[in-house]
Amino acid sequence: MSKLSKTTRDRIGDRTRLVHAGRDPDAQHGFINMPPWRGSTVLFPDYETLTKRGQHFTYGTKGTPSTDALEEAWTEISGAARTVLAPTGLAAIALALMTAAKAGDHILITDSAYQPTRTFCNTILKRMGVETTYYDPHVGAAIGDLMRPNTSLVLVEAPGSQSFEMQDVPAIAEVAHARGACVIMDNTWATPLFFPPHERGVDLAIEAGTKYLSGHSDLMLGLVSANEAWAKELRATYDCFAMCPGPEDIFLALRGLRTMSLRLREAERQGLALANWLAARPEVKEVLHPALPTHRGHDIWKRDFSGSSGLFSVVLNPVPEKAVAALLDGLELFGMGYSWGGFESLVIPFNCASYRTATTWNPGGPALRFQVGLEDMNDLTADLDKGFERLRANA
Ligand SMILES: *Cc1c(COP(=O)(O)O)cnc(C)c1O
Repeated sequence: MSKLSKTTRDRIGDRTRLVHAGRDPDAQHGFINMPPWRGSTVLFPDYETLTKRGQHFTYGTKGTPSTDALEEAWTEISGAARTVLAPTGLAAIALALMTAAKAGDHILITDSAYQPTRTFCNTILKRMGVETTYYDPHVGAAIGDLMRPNTSLVLVEAPGSQSFEMQDVPAIAEVAHARGACVIMDNTWATPLFFPPHERGVDLAIEAGTKYLSGHSDLMLGLVSANEAWAKELRATYDCFAMCPGPEDIFLALRGLRTMSLRLREAERQGLALANWLAARPEVKEVLHPALPTHRGHDIWKRDFSGSSGLFSVVLNPVPEKAVAALLDGLELFGMGYSWGGFESLVIPFNCASYRTATTWNPGGPALRFQVGLEDMNDLTADLDKGFERLRANA
């Protein structure tokens, strides 16, 4: 589908790739962007073509020019063999887990995983006869000690959801592969632009396209990319579920793709600026941002990642709950709400203690997660400055 020759495609950098991937204006009357293709039925020209499924598109759930364009682009950007789409990030996680787990298996999930991932394992997978063990995200190569003869997959997420632990993905992947287990990674934070998952040993990489691929908080989408070893299994599982996203969301995702590198670099710059500002505040005990040298996982981040996105957390020095509420309730520029990766700044309070099982979450004060948007940094810090005044007045 890409108009570029294979030699050009092999040579170009990420920014050029984001602009050109999955796009061929010559095939659509010169118009630059792929329109949203709507459709269920696809007609076959004759009996033989129909009975032999002898054409590329056969039915709406199996793919459209829109899904092909985004899958092809994501495959290229991820250094994968194949990509399938899903209607949400969580659906993509479910699809990846269902690809690699079967009844009687044991699976290993990092204790720092996105919380709904745990719910899927503790309910659906449990009901299907799959046993889950949660492990300390800092386990590294010692993951081997937790593996059993029937361990079929290891799920990693780096940095961890909300708490930002880093994981040694290449070390975990090496041990898992030696025991024949599949390595699944939720790579939403870094995206393939800052962490090339398959180059680092990941078999199935998940991206919540809802976040940085969208970039505008106006769509929900998930993607799973696979290396050569898992490409066929992934597609076969996808075909069973037929969980396909709608054409308008794919259209918006393709639009987001073209500016993703710019937005991520700016999210990184803004994120570091705010993280450093917060680190200097007397009300802040600790900033959980892997690109700061003070972070426990900084060396791993530096070795394996080429950038950091605009999502990080802070731990405040102990204050009563009403002081945290006073900080948050008066904010004018920071919204309070879930999800992230959009153009606007957000903040939420969180507490992992209620669901962690392999590790204890006891950071020594209330915790907040920040998503930094594209606003002027001076305005954002002024908003928080007033918030900290309210916090002190209620402490
Ligand atoms: C948001 C998120 C998801 C789920 O994406 P949805 O599209 O909201 O379902 C998965 N993993 C991580 C790390 C996320 O932050």
